[in-house]
Formats: sequence, structure tokens, C-alpha cells
Amino acid sequence: MQWPSWWRAAFGKRGRRARRSDPIRPRRSLGMTAALAAVLCGLGAFTLWGTLQATRATEAQSRALVLDAIFSEASSAVAVQEMQARHYQLEPSVASRERYLDSAAQADAALRRAVELSTGAAQQDALRLQAEQSAYRQAADQLIVMVTDRNPDAVKQDRLEVTPAYYTLQHDITEVSRSYHALAQKRVAELRSVQTRMFAATMLGFAIGLALVAAIWRVMLAYQRRVLEHARASQRQALHDPLTGLANRLLFQQRLDDAIEAAGPGSDRQPAVMLIDMNGFKAVNDTLGHHAGDEVLVQTGNRLGKVCGEGDTVARLGGDEFAVLLRSVSSVEAALEIAERAGGALRRNFQLPVGSAAVSGSVGMALGAPGCSAEDMLRHADAAMYRAKSSGKGVALYDPEVDIDQPGRMALFADLRTLLTEGDPDAQLVLYYQPQVRIADATVPAVEALVRWRHPQLGLLAPDAFLGVAETGGLEIPLTYHLLRIAVAEAAGWHAQGRPLTVSVNVSPNCLLDEAFVGQVRAALADTGLPSHLLRLEITESGMTTDPDRAQEVLRRIRHDGVQVSIDDFGTGFSSLNQLKLLTADELKIDRIFIQELATDPGDAILVRSAIELAHNLGLFVTAEGVEDLTALNMLAELGCDQVQGFALSRPVPADVLRAECAKAEQIARAALKPARGTMTTTEFGAKV
Ligand code: C2E
Ligand code: CA
Ligand code: CA
Repeated sequence: MQWPSWWRAAFGKRGRRARRSDPIRPRRSLGMTAALAAVLCGLGAFTLWGTLQATRATEAQSRALVLDAIFSEASSAVAVQEMQARHYQLEPSVASRERYLDSAAQADAALRRAVELSTGAAQQDALRLQAEQSAYRQAADQLIVMVTDRNPDAVKQDRLEVTPAYYTLQHDITEVSRSYHALAQKRVAELRSVQTRMFAATMLGFAIGLALVAAIWRVMLAYQRRVLEHARASQRQALHDPLTGLANRLLFQQRLDDAIEAAGPGSDRQPAVMLIDMNGFKAVNDTLGHHAGDEVLVQTGNRLGKVCGEGDTVARLGGDEFAVLLRSVSSVEAALEIAERAGGALRRNFQLPVGSAAVSGSVGMALGAPGCSAEDMLRHADAAMYRAKSSGKGVALYDPEVDIDQPGRMALFADLRTLLTEGDPDAQLVLYYQPQVRIADATVPAVEALVRWRHPQLGLLAPDAFLGVAETGGLEIPLTYHLLRIAVAEAAGWHAQGRPLTVSVNVSPNCLLDEAFVGQVRAALADTGLPSHLLRLEITESGMTTDPDRAQEVLRRIRHDGVQVSIDDFGTGFSSLNQLKLLTADELKIDRIFIQELATDPGDAILVRSAIELAHNLGLFVTAEGVEDLTALNMLAELGCDQVQGFALSRPVPADVLRAECAKAEQIARAALKPARGTMTTTEFGAKV
């Protein structure tokens, strides 16, 4: 059986299925409402028609009942009249005659009333009966007179006239009365049937109406549910990233606002924000395709989710930029530990169907502080992330001393470009030098050149504050060449004064890929006359990763000229051993993160010992940087480290105080180092390693 479409829509299985997947269709409910209206109209019309029918049937029934009553009454009156006439025949008396006359008058009156009250065929019947009554009455009246007169013809009169007239009248009146009685019965039955039908039809209409109302209600409920679902879905869409399903920037900011409010100004637990920017993500997109890129983003979200706890939020802010909200952290150390874990989680290779991708993330972290808004925290985390990326350290905690936010960075970049291209860089870009002490004889044979920017408005800027900015627009290459020339010229001066010092110059990673690099180094040496062995170039691992073959070739050529090469920040990269095997270098500098807590962290001691052994086996001498206390100095001596550099001996200082600073550093080293080494008295400035 084929159900109407609106029925199927409301109750059918297909209808239900369709409702789940179809978009909202207002036409369906419109159809049902129209059907309900039609049913209600039909019900109204039917009720009207039924009422008319019932009225008519009632009228017909009452007419029939009246006629039935009239003719029954007439029939009885006629019978009584005949009975009185017979009675008078048997016992003629004045009283019985009176009774006859009375009953005859009543029969006349009954028939007269029948004529008056009836119409149509019934009136015809009444008139006919009236005529018959009149004929009977005439004959009966004559008989009465004849009986009174004791006329012997009375019997004849009775037999020939009265009895036939009575039989005719009685027969006809009985017939007529019976037929009107039957008609009355019929009308009663008809009325009852109309009423029954009306009742059934009304019930049916009511049931259909009720069913329709239920159907419309159902559909309305379904629509309401769908509208709510749609509202929920669009709200979700508005607050989540469609690819990863993570919170988007808007939701992240809302949650951060909530977390700041929940922490309150006096609380010792504060929210923290991590901003993560992927490194090498563009290469995945370019080489492995956008599907692979999407997969990396999804996996990144998952990995970050595992690092943080319940109640924390991982968000994708756009592109390859993610953010994590730690709702409540108890200390800087706890926050940093999570940041390190996040950085570590992203350093593992991403396994994709098309191969594995080596992507990493730079993590910037900012902690909430009194009066610090969500916007401030995000800006701080961004600035820290920028430093994490540009320093190659991977993770950085916001430090108001060195971190500059985005607008500030743009202004700084513009200043630096103007300075390098049009201005007088020597007036603002200066080199500080940090002595490096040789443990064997407690002397300073070398110094590391570290740049400072005397910014006219911002004061003295540390390298971390502007080197990243320089790298965003390729300014780090002209900057490096400029500083190289200053350092070489300065070292040539010390050499000329008879106090040679090896100068270590930090080389930005991109310089190794620059065509002009080798020429620049040679020109700096040639222009100043500095012996090449007094120049050492510090290269970080990241300088070797983009194009290792080319970088090695460049370093090979430089070493061939007699210039020394140093592997800087050893231990912070993740493919150090691989690079070490391939690199031909002179020095290995163990990063300060392994040295600063050497005295307290046994793990660091093991790592440093291994690094020293490894370097020595590869023919490199080892410098430890970040020596902040004399215990570390002695431990490094014990471990066989060749050279040290750190605040415990000397901070980086301007060139004009370097000599005095070197003497101080030597003094400290002599006093601190154990007798076996401390007995050495050599103070010759610039002894070759
Ligand atoms: P780096 O090459 O690791 O330089 C050593 C950094 O450690 C210097 O920071 C120095 O001041 C700091 N340091 C030395 N001893 C200690 C110590 O005992 N404790 C602590 N906590 N720190 C110590 P600085 O001068 O702020 O330089 C930061 C980084 O900027 C350098 O790290 C280097 O990567 C880069 N840089 C500095 N100058 C130049 C430059 O002229 N050219 C290039 N390309 N990069 C430079
Ligand atoms: Ca360095
Ligand atoms: Ca270093």
C-alpha cells in the first residue's frame, strides 16, 4: 500500500531516515499543515451537513409521530362510536343514545383534526376517511332513529348500510393508522441511523485530526532538534579547526580569558601559554604533498594533547602554528618541563603513509602574571617562540629583557636594515669579547666575539633580541660579514701589539650557503694581515642541516686556508653524532645547558665526560661554555676539558677593557684550579692551543 508522502515523512522508516540526513525541508510541514486544515474544514462541513440531516430527520419523525397519534386516536374514536351504536341497538335508552352521540361527535372531531393537522397525501387520507365517517354516521344515525322508533327495517338498515359502511371505515382507518405508525417507526430508525453515522464520522474526523496534530508535532520536534543540531554544529565550526578538530584562536582566547579570571590576581597558581611554530613544515608540503602536510598537523595536535593534562587546551591558530593553554601551573619549572616535553614530542619523526617527515616545533612559553591579559600572554609567548626559533634552542620562556613582540620586531628590523645599508654601523654595532681560559696553563689564548647593539632608543641590546629579527629578512649575512671584519681587524691589532689572541666569531647558519662567504673571510684576513690561525669560526649544527655537502665543502676550503672551525652549542641539536663524524673541525664547544648544573646534575657529568672523550677521539679540543662556578671549573678540569669560558671567569666585555679582564680571568683560574694545574704560571697572552 502506498502511503501519502506526508505520512511517510512523519511516521515512515524512510521518512525517519531521510529526516536524519536531509537538510530541513519546510515544504513537508507546510503540506501537513494544509492536510490538517483540509481535515478540519471537511470535519466542519460534515458536521453542518450532519446537523441538517439530523434536523430534517427529527422533523420528519415528529410529523410522522403526530400523524400516527392522530390516526390512532381517530381509529379508537371510530371503534368506540361503533361500539356505542351496537350498545344502543341492544339496550336502547336515552343515556346510551347520548353516549353514542358523544362518541360519534368525538370520532367526527378526531377526523376533522386529522384533516386540519395533516398535509399532502396524509390530508387526502384524512379527507377520504372523513367522507367515509360521514357516510357511516348518516347510516348509523338513521339506524338509531329506526331503533328508537322500533322500526322493523332497522335490522335491514344495519345489514345493508351501517355494517358495510363501518367495515369500510374501520378497514381504511386501521390501514391508514397502521401505515402512519409504520412511517413513524421508520423515521425514528432513520434518525437513529443518522445519529450513529454522525457519531462515527465525528470520531473518525477527530481521530484523523488528532493523528495529524501528532504528526505535525513530531515533525516540529524533529525540526526543532535539527535546528538545535545545526546550531550546535555551526557553533562547533565557529570555535574549532576543521582539519584537526582542535580549538581555534577564538575558543583558545575565550578559554585563556576564563583561566586568567579563575586564577585571580592573588593566586599562586597561574595559567601558562605555549605557542608552537613548526620548523620544516613547508618542506613537507612541498615535497610530500598537502595530504602529508595535513597528516603532520593532525599528528602534531595529538602529540601536544598527550603532553598536557585534563582541562588544558590545545588549539591550532592557523597554518602550522599551535597553542597550548595550561590552565594552572604551580611554578616556572613545572611549566618549562611541559614546554620541553612538547618540544621533545615534536622532534620525533612523523610517520606518514608516504614516508617519514623530520619536522620539529619551536616552543615559546609565557606565564600569567598580575595585570597580564590574554592578549599580553599570547604576545609574550609569540615573542618567546620567536626567540626559541631564531636561537635554534627549540624552547624559550618569555623574558621581558630580551623578547620583543611583533610590532617591535618589525621596527627593529627596519632600524637594522637602515643601519647596515645607509648608516654608520660601527657607531651602534659593537663587539664584546669573552675570554676563554686554557685549563692546562690557566691562560687566555682566545676570546669569543659577541655582538651588542647600542640602540639609540632601546639601549644596549643582547644578540638574542635582534639576531632572529635579522634572520627573517636575510640581514644576518651582511651583519655577520660586518662583525667578522671588526673582529678580524681587532685581532690583527692585538697581534700587531705583540699580544696575539685567537678570536672566535659566530657565523650565522645561512652564511655557509652564501656564495660570497669564503671570499669575505679571505678578504677580511688579507685586508688586516691577521694570520689565519688566529681566526676561529663558530658554526652551529643548524648551519649544517640545510645543505650538508655544501657546508662541508665551504668549511674544508676555509680550514685549508688555516682558519679554525668550531662546532658551537654541541648537544642541543639532535643529529650531533652524525654531523661530528662528517665534519672536519678543530674545536667542540659543549653547550652551557650541560655545564650550568654540572656540579649538581650527575646526568650532565656523564654527558660531558662522553662528549669530551668523543671529541678527543675525533682529534678535536673541547671548550666548555657557561662555567658559572669554580666547582664546575674543577670538575671540567678533572674530566679532561681543554678550555673554559663563563661568567665565573669573565663576562663578555668591550675591547678596551679586555686586557684587564683577561688578566683577572687568569688569576681566578690559577687560584681555583687544583694545585697540579694551578702551579702553572704561564701568562703569555695568546699562547696557541
Ligand atoms: P653563544 O655562541 O653560545 O655565545 C655564548 C653566550 O653565552 C653569550 O651570550 C655569552 O654571553 C653567554 N655566556 C657566556 N658565559 C656564560 C655563563 O657563564 N653563563 C651564562 N648564562 N651565559 C654565558 P650572548 O652574548 O647573549 O650571545 C647569545 C648568542 O647570540 C650566542 O650564543 C650566539 O649564538 C649569538 N651571537 C652572539 N654574537 C654573535 C655574532 O656576532 N654573530 C652571530 N651570528 N651570532 C652571535
Ligand atoms: Ca658561540
Ligand atoms: Ca655556544
